[in-house]
Amino acid sequence: MHRDITRRDFLNGVSLGVVGSLLAPELIGAFEQEFAPERAPDYYPPTRTGMRGSHDGSFEVAHQFRDRRPWDVSAAINTGESYDLVVVGGGLSGLAAAHYFIKEVGRGAKVLVLDNHDDFGGHAKRNEFHHNGRMLALNGGTLNIESPLRYNLPARQLLQDVGIDLDRFVSANAKNRELYRSHGLTGSALFFDKETWGLDKLVVRSRAPGGGRGGPSTGSGQGGRGGGYNSDFLAQTPLSPKAREDMLRLNGPLPDFMPGLSSAEKKVRLAKMSYADFVLNIVKADKQVLWFYQNTGAGNFCVGIDALPALFGWQMGLPGFNGMNLEPTPNGVLADLPGGQHGRQNGSGGGGAIHFPDGNATIARLLVRWLLPDAVPGQTMEDVGAAHVNYALLDRAGQSARIRLNSTVVNVRHDGTPSSAKETVVSYVRGGKTYQVRGRASVMACWNMFIPSIVPDIPAKQKEALAYGVKGPLVYTSVAVRDWTAFQKMGVSSVNSPTMYHTGVSLAEAVSLGDLQHPQSPDEPIVLHMTRYPCAPGKPRKEQHRIGRADLLSTSFDTFERKIRDQLARSLSEGGFDPARDIMAIAVNRWPHGYAYTYNSLYDPLEWVFTSTDTRPCVVGRQPFGSITIANSDAAASPHTDAAFLEAHRAVQEVLQRRAMPMLTDRT
Ligand SMILES: Cc1cc2nc3c(=O)[nH]c(=O)nc-3n(C[C@H](O)[C@H](O)[C@H](O)COP(=O)(O)OP(=O)(O)OC[C@H]3O[C@@H](n4cnc5c(N)ncnc54)[C@H](O)[C@@H]3O)c2cc1C
Repeated sequence: MHRDITRRDFLNGVSLGVVGSLLAPELIGAFEQEFAPERAPDYYPPTRTGMRGSHDGSFEVAHQFRDRRPWDVSAAINTGESYDLVVVGGGLSGLAAAHYFIKEVGRGAKVLVLDNHDDFGGHAKRNEFHHNGRMLALNGGTLNIESPLRYNLPARQLLQDVGIDLDRFVSANAKNRELYRSHGLTGSALFFDKETWGLDKLVVRSRAPGGGRGGPSTGSGQGGRGGGYNSDFLAQTPLSPKAREDMLRLNGPLPDFMPGLSSAEKKVRLAKMSYADFVLNIVKADKQVLWFYQNTGAGNFCVGIDALPALFGWQMGLPGFNGMNLEPTPNGVLADLPGGQHGRQNGSGGGGAIHFPDGNATIARLLVRWLLPDAVPGQTMEDVGAAHVNYALLDRAGQSARIRLNSTVVNVRHDGTPSSAKETVVSYVRGGKTYQVRGRASVMACWNMFIPSIVPDIPAKQKEALAYGVKGPLVYTSVAVRDWTAFQKMGVSSVNSPTMYHTGVSLAEAVSLGDLQHPQSPDEPIVLHMTRYPCAPGKPRKEQHRIGRADLLSTSFDTFERKIRDQLARSLSEGGFDPARDIMAIAVNRWPHGYAYTYNSLYDPLEWVFTSTDTRPCVVGRQPFGSITIANSDAAASPHTDAAFLEAHRAVQEVLQRRAMPMLTDRT
């Protein structure tokens, strides 16, 4: 456990020869010469390990605003650059805004995308590992294209435009879907930890949730929401006899707990109590039962069932409601909730969730290829899997789009009065210096809560609305290991441990994309996926998010590493896992500002949750302000990729309407 991890060997096999070529200095503005890490031959953020996600160096400038120390832009260096559009934020929404704009205006348009991270994609980033000439990749953030059949039109069109063919991808991976099962990994396991239960105990469930795909848990936590907990299974657990009985009762036929009320009246009551309260006070089950469901909903809200409305629990298929005669939810209402037999489902109506090996980083990479074909070599969806991005080519003069990384925007204003100004002025900090560019319009594809600080002229009411939500913090950890024989010996592809530091560990979902091939034999290296939701159960949801965020920013990588090694050693011990021998590399993707804040009936007005009313803060906040418009998934109060695209599309349309197309630059 306490031996050092030797990871140096892991980078063997990375071909440095193909890494970013140096650019001719005349292609880059002179102002950039001093600080241009992207042009270093070994600049390749996807292969970086240690603390990733919101990595050191990406947030310090922004936190100066948090600490109420505004950035002085009066002495900003004028780069002399002038764009048709400046996009703040290089996540999926920002990249999509650049795409929609250029698609509409033409390749002659000039667009600059600015992002504070060392890599593009926002949450949709990838961790890439190399071992003995083999490339492995896993999503460092955004996991899935969820419910693709429910994707809005602009999102569907974008996927098509960048070359994504989901049917082709799914059929190419038909064999992979049976991979784990074919090696005897037919189930998942629950790990009862000694800190909670007085002893460490692994209990294997025989049925593989998800049909043996063995993919990363999206946070439902316990692998299987409703049934499946029979008396044989429960007899192996450290639960008290009363808790076992209650677990069986909860998962069996139940009475109507609210007789005499209509379905609508029951729903209102369920909307205003937590699922934890429902199980304890309505079903009157033993407290130990909560352990099984504790993290359900965290995959969408980053909080446990103490902050999950019971109604959402019903919608997601949690047990306890089968006697209550609740009417199905109308289509589209609560559509962001995953799973369950009552609403949006991955398997029914929405199409199955689609996971590329690196999650939605594949979309980000294809979007960047669409914007800058030279930077992401290749022609097809398949060849982007193993494509080596040339970061030196992201920000060059003379191309339609430029993506400038390591650049935190600190001020966006109109050059004149918002209603008539011809230009916006955008200041950003890069390498410790402040620069200024101009744009005929700006799209804010960054985080809502940051906009009032960097667009100080925005009306007060709009600022208040933008600041309303608090993004949910979470961690996706990728652990590259020498092989997966431990999982094979245990016959499982995932182990859930609701009360440990990470809520579980699973083998990367078995999918390949072109030359990025998923390991086929348990003797081959693989990447493990682990999830952590730092929160403070029992407190109001926003407070939980703030506490969780502070926890993430103050926890060192060393602490994470110790926790990861401890958890894997204990929960995989029956398979003979040895962290010192088996772990080759770790990337902790911490997202202190993770999921967009979604409305929750325990804390927000019911009409914000159940209707698309214009009084929702996300609508009030996203109104155009002169030539500055607002994209990003916060603007939809939805933590989903299709929402990020829809908001980008709207924000670009607002720019185009104001600017009375065509607005092609008349500059050279
Ligand atoms: C761990 C995780 C897993 C997820 N899984 C899924 C999933 O499976 N499916 C799904 O649909 N969605 C998922 N999401 C939600 C995801 O956030 C959205 O799908 C989508 O990627 C959001 O895109 P965005 O561009 O709006 O925001 P972001 O991805 O957050 O991008 C915004 C970018 O703007 C940058 N920025 C902010 N302020 C500034 C500034 N002042 N200057 C410069 N840059 C700035 C940010 O740093 C960031 O890079 C997940 C999110 C997380 C964190």
